[in-house]
Order: sequence, then C-alpha cells, then structure tokens
Amino acid sequence: MYDIDRLRDQFPILRKCIYLDSASTSQTPICSVEAMCEYFYEYAANHGRGAHHLARKTTEKYEETREILASFLKVPAGHLIFTKNTTEAVNLVANGIRWKKGDEVITTFLEHHANLLPWMMLREQGVRVKIVPHENGYIRPENIQNEITKKTRLVAVTHMPNILGTVQPVEEIGRISRDAGVPVIVDGAQSVGHFPVDVKNIDYLAIPGHKGLLGPQGTGALYAKDPDSLKCSIYGGGMVVHVSHEEVELLPPPARFEPGTPNIPGVIGLGPAIRLVKNLGVRNIHAYEKRLGHRMYRGLSSIGGVEVYSPPGTGVVSFNAEGRTPNEFARELDEYKKICVRSGMHCAEPLASSYHCQGTVRASVGCYSTTDEIDSLVGAVRHLSGHDR
Ligand code: PLP
Repeated sequence: MYDIDRLRDQFPILRKCIYLDSASTSQTPICSVEAMCEYFYEYAANHGRGAHHLARKTTEKYEETREILASFLKVPAGHLIFTKNTTEAVNLVANGIRWKKGDEVITTFLEHHANLLPWMMLREQGVRVKIVPHENGYIRPENIQNEITKKTRLVAVTHMPNILGTVQPVEEIGRISRDAGVPVIVDGAQSVGHFPVDVKNIDYLAIPGHKGLLGPQGTGALYAKDPDSLKCSIYGGGMVVHVSHEEVELLPPPARFEPGTPNIPGVIGLGPAIRLVKNLGVRNIHAYEKRLGHRMYRGLSSIGGVEVYSPPGTGVVSFNAEGRTPNEFARELDEYKKICVRSGMHCAEPLASSYHCQGTVRASVGCYSTTDEIDSLVGAVRHLSGHDR
C-alpha cells in the first residue's frame, strides 16, 4: 500500500472539501500542474512543426507522454492517438470504420452516452445497433456471442459502467469476438488507472487522461491494435507527408489522426500524472479503492430510506435517499459538509431511467480518497436523511 498522506500532499484542493466525484474527473496532482507551468514559463510552442529550440523541446515532451502511456499500458507508442477525452476516442473509431448498409454493431444496456450515441448515429448510414441486456449490472459474454452474425462489424462494451461500478468481463468478450473475427472496442473511462487493463483481446481502448490517470481535463487517448484499420475523420495540418492539389500522402499513425494544434500543455501534464499512478501501483490502487468501496457500500446500505444500486466493493456507488431528488440531495451534502458528489442521469440515461427514478446520487473514490472521507459521507447521509438516531 502507498502512503496516503504523502499522496494527498500532491492535491492541495483535497484540504478544502471532500471530493467524491472522481468518476467524473479526477483532481490533478502538483507534479502535473508544475509540468504544465514549466511548459508555459519555459518552452511553450507548437509541436512537431518547427526547427527552433522551443518547438523541439515541446515535441520531445509531448512525445514523452506517449511513451509513458505506452509503457503504462504495455503497448507500442505508435498505437496511441491522443484525444481530448474518452468520447473523442470512441468517435474516432465510429467515424473511422468504413461502414456499409446492413452492418451491425453490438453494444450493451450499460453504456455511457459516449459509447452509445456514436453507434446510434450510424443508423443514418443503415447500420443496425443491437443492445445486449445486463443481468444485475453484468453483461454475460454468451449473450454477446449469441448476437454475433456475419454482419457484425464491431462489439462496443464498457469496462465499468459509471453508474453501477460493476467490472465487465471484457477479456472474455474480447476472446469470443476475436474468435468470431469481430473487433472489440472497450470504453476504459472507469477502468484505466483504477485496475489493470490487458489489451490482449481488445482492438480499441478508449482512454481518459483526466480520470484514473490523474491527468488534466481535455486529455485522453485511443489505443488501436491496428491503427491502419481506421480511416481519418478529421483532416488538416500536421498529418501529411506531401500534398498537391491532385493528391495527398498521409503520415503514418498516430500523426495522421492528430491534425491541428492539440492540447499540448494537457498532454505534457498527463505524463507525470501517469508516472505517479505507475509508482503507486495500479494493483495497489485497485485494492485500496475496493476497500473504500466496501466501506461506502456497508455504510450507505445500513441507512434506512437509502437505496443503493451498486454492488459491494466498487469505488463507484450510486444511491438515492427517500423523499429527495438526486440533485437536491447532492446539493445538501455539499452545503452540509462540502461533500462533492455527482447527481442525475450520469450521461447514461437508458440505464439510469431503467431504475424508475430521476437518476441517482453517485459517490466515487480516487486513489487519494480516505476512509475518513467515506465515514463523513456516510455520517452526512445518515444525518440528512433523518436516520442519525
Ligand atoms: N464512458 C464512461 C463509462 C464514463 O464514465 C464517461 C465519463 O464519465 C465517459 C465515457 C466519457 O468520458 P469523457 O468525459 O472522458 O469523454
């Protein structure tokens, strides 16, 4: 286990509130903020397109983050395309496949809109979207297998739905799909940095920089096993070997997929954040967050009038308190003890509305959360729900 007090020194904001909204976005460590400051103060320039020393240094630091992420995921750096978030990574795949009318995509009932809308929009091109149901928050791989036909072009599945926190058997789903010759995209928004992710059976992994990897907002990446399987969906500067008015020769991936000026400071700030996660040890983070999750589940489910939707042992716990809307209750927690939790449909409306409520209150931990914070949440929920006697 790591030294939690030392880790929290990297996050001064945590002295000012109880932050239990890490599933939405994580807090950013000082090492990441300092790297961004250093970029602005010492060498800010555009990357990949200049001979001067500032541009060279910027390019070096930008590419260093790609190497750090590659070593973290144990994948080749050239297979990582930087994006501004998970959503953009999924859209790169949705817009990068050459779809034909009648093609099929299999996805699930558990998805965030980021891994649902890009597929639903393909209906306009005559693509059929099949939605596999869940059983108590879990997708059974055989239910995916039963939906695969000769027309299936892709399976798109979340690693961990952001309302329930249930870890999905993506390796098994990947194996089944590969055996059937169908590529798989995994939405790693809630998994990368929280527990080990093995891309052996995964063709595409959508990665947020700003959640489990502790990077700044506006960062993310797509891992593609075969980047050449995708066509570009955005065109512009910085992606070509040569252009004339007659023809275009594109650079190899990943540069081909990153035209225009990207979030350079963000990517540079992401590097040290990933290093921090790597040094903590993702298995340690997983074990620690699981323990916090158990504590949160036990505490919240012992309160009368509180309904908990997540299973025990996950760091993402959704619940509702009788007689309050999720938004009302989240606001009360903030006003009472500066406890920051998320409320509403969590951009996963089909799943949230299947519980016949106006969404949920969701408390989610990060590697820097503490047992005291969990106990404060449980105490506040008990108090505010009128069950503290
Ligand atoms: N997928 C899941 C499961 C999420 O929880 C989220 C955001 O919370 C997303 C996708 C979208 O992530 P981003 O904001 O990085 O695009």
